[in-house]
Amino acid sequence: MERPRLKSIIVQRAGSQVIICRRALERVYLDDPTGSVATLLQVLAEGRHTVGELPGALSERGVSVSDAEVSAALAHLDGLEVLADADGDDRLDEDVRRRHQSNLRFYDLFASLHRSSADIHTAVARARVLLVGAGGLGSGVLQALAGLGVGEIVLVDDDIVEVKNLARQFVYGLAALGRPKVLAASDWVAGYSPGTRVTPVNRRITDVQSIQDLATGCDVVVCAADSPPDLHLMINEVCFALGIPFVAGGLAYSTLSYWSVWPGRTPCRQCLELNRADEAAELPAELRDGVFIDPPRVNRATGPVAQILSGLMAMEAMRYVTHTDPPVAAAAYNVIELADGMTTSRSSWSRHPKCLLCDGAG
Ligand SMILES: [Zn+2]
Repeated sequence: MERPRLKSIIVQRAGSQVIICRRALERVYLDDPTGSVATLLQVLAEGRHTVGELPGALSERGVSVSDAEVSAALAHLDGLEVLADADGDDRLDEDVRRRHQSNLRFYDLFASLHRSSADIHTAVARARVLLVGAGGLGSGVLQALAGLGVGEIVLVDDDIVEVKNLARQFVYGLAALGRPKVLAASDWVAGYSPGTRVTPVNRRITDVQSIQDLATGCDVVVCAADSPPDLHLMINEVCFALGIPFVAGGLAYSTLSYWSVWPGRTPCRQCLELNRADEAAELPAELRDGVFIDPPRVNRATGPVAQILSGLMAMEAMRYVTHTDPPVAAAAYNVIELADGMTTSRSSWSRHPKCLLCDGAG
């Protein structure tokens, strides 16, 4: 790290205090009876000086400090997550910098003196994601990942584009009708961004071995499909064996949900299944077996709903890739209830004593 820079954040002064507006709704108060903190922040906002030059730059503004005092102040400010590497962006090519400007400024929120926004972007650009499903959720996740500049996406689906898809699968247009979704989606990405390579896999996943072949070498698996019925459990098994995080989501009635599994860190998806079976066993008999109208499945994923959920799933996948912040849905059902004012809730599930996968992990 050569030159520290204050992130693009508002700083206020009130009496003998400096107020750092670190987030939109968060203020950090620092005591500053001599005004030296405010001056240091002013110099850091310019981002022109190396650490070694800071005492001199401060001295020019009438503040006398030692190297050790500057180091201590920088460590404190970095601990408050308000400093970044002023030269970070310069390590990226000009075209990358321009294209991903807003992504880089988003990463600023998580950057530090030791990890620049460019470092975070580079992690994304090197990432390989297995995306299962190119429908309502998968096509939205694909667009979000391409926008972020994910390096490689292995996209699996065996559907063709139908006119009914166009209400919510915005990656497809009229010209794509009748084409395999994975091919039409790859063409969209190719025309959208040269930084993302899509490997289209035009087939239906039915077994663990083919998931294993596809997932090997990936950084995260996103499942945006729900058939065959045991798809999530098959992916869970593979991700557990390979140590790859796994993100999934879905819509039932008016309830959006998404969750993830962090192998080695959280209980797996099989644990949830076993917990649910235990809970179902406690239900009165009429609730266990009482379904007498079982209608055919309908798809209620209207465009905005699919966009919300696919965006949240893409965000969760990126947390595993970038390590900017911890995954929010690891072994936790995150729910958004559309019929109840978009209320959000989160419920964690625990490890089941009879889960062979988690048991094998010790
Ligand atoms: Zn488990």
